[in-house]
Amino acid sequence: ELYNKVLELKGNIRVFCRCRPLNLDEIAAGASMAIDFSSEKDGELTVKSNGISKKIFKFDSVFSPQADQADVFEDTAPLATSVLDGYNVCIFAYGQTGTGKTFTMEGTSDNRGVNYRTLEELFHIIEGRKNTFRYEISVSVLEVYNEQIRDLLVSGSQAGVTSKRLEIKQVVEGGHHVPGIVEARVTNVNEVWEVLRTGSNGRAVGSTNANEHSSRSHCMHCVMVKGENLINGECTRSKLWLVDLAGSERIAKTEVQGERLKETQNINRSLSALGDVIYALATKSPHIPFRNSKLTHLLQDSLGGDSKTLMFVQISPNENDLTETFCSLNFASRVR
Ligand code: ADP
Ligand code: MG
Repeated sequence: ELYNKVLELKGNIRVFCRCRPLNLDEIAAGASMAIDFSSEKDGELTVKSNGISKKIFKFDSVFSPQADQADVFEDTAPLATSVLDGYNVCIFAYGQTGTGKTFTMEGTSDNRGVNYRTLEELFHIIEGRKNTFRYEISVSVLEVYNEQIRDLLVSGSQAGVTSKRLEIKQVVEGGHHVPGIVEARVTNVNEVWEVLRTGSNGRAVGSTNANEHSSRSHCMHCVMVKGENLINGECTRSKLWLVDLAGSERIAKTEVQGERLKETQNINRSLSALGDVIYALATKSPHIPFRNSKLTHLLQDSLGGDSKTLMFVQISPNENDLTETFCSLNFASRVR
């Protein structure tokens, strides 16, 4: 089957695929590109193996290794308007470790990613609406590791060990809330950058190998928006989740033991729970299994209904990574 059958069930779910460039080590090792981007503009990419076209995948947007942060954000920016219009939005990055999830979401200080750019866009729109709307924005940053929630804005909270056990509580409006979590009020983009830096630094605290730890945990930013229409007094509350997921690579249970096995099982469980929830929503299943993981439970009020979801599926161009690339592309096709 050459063409990947696209489900006609798009609804409010969009999938963007982004491929990182080959890195210097791969180039030095003579690695070959397994992805053809000649139909990038049509939202298509072709996976090749030994130079032969194997399968075409279609997404809402495709970003080749040449696409920069601004190109990616151009297609993401409309969601900032949605949040301010009162919709809940969820943006996440899925993929094998090393494919650019953190690069897309967090970026670097001189090449900022979706997290910062979306908040910057929020403040830009707020400025333009200041005569008709008043908004209050606050941000929480948390990490889900081994099915435990850790507040990354609390200093001294240790990786893998929650100083204060954080749980999810149902709140009256049907939403969810994590009592005790820090909600940092932000009034401009400089404050946003401060909060994002604090959260990012908090992620590394207490772990012997920061990179490894971050690839085994989900990093979640929750942007809470309170809006007031100054003309008719109407109020809105909405949420924007920005999620850098744990690496999706499959690790054979035979390869790991003890703590590492538990970690692996928790990651597999939460990522498949996420896939199941999105698939259930897309196929309009009467039962949406939100409660199967902390990740999906936290996102419950921001997935489905009239909320909007964007998933970045991040891939490697390297032919050696083809097995994982196929897994990620298939996962993304299933939810689309
Ligand atoms: P992940 O979070 O999925 O494990 P990273 O975001 O850490 O992956 O990316 C791995 C490496 O590749 C980093 O050094 C990152 O800067 C680089 N990288 C990823 N995507 C891109 C890209 N689109 N352009 C340039 N460098 C990238
Ligand atoms: Mg990462």
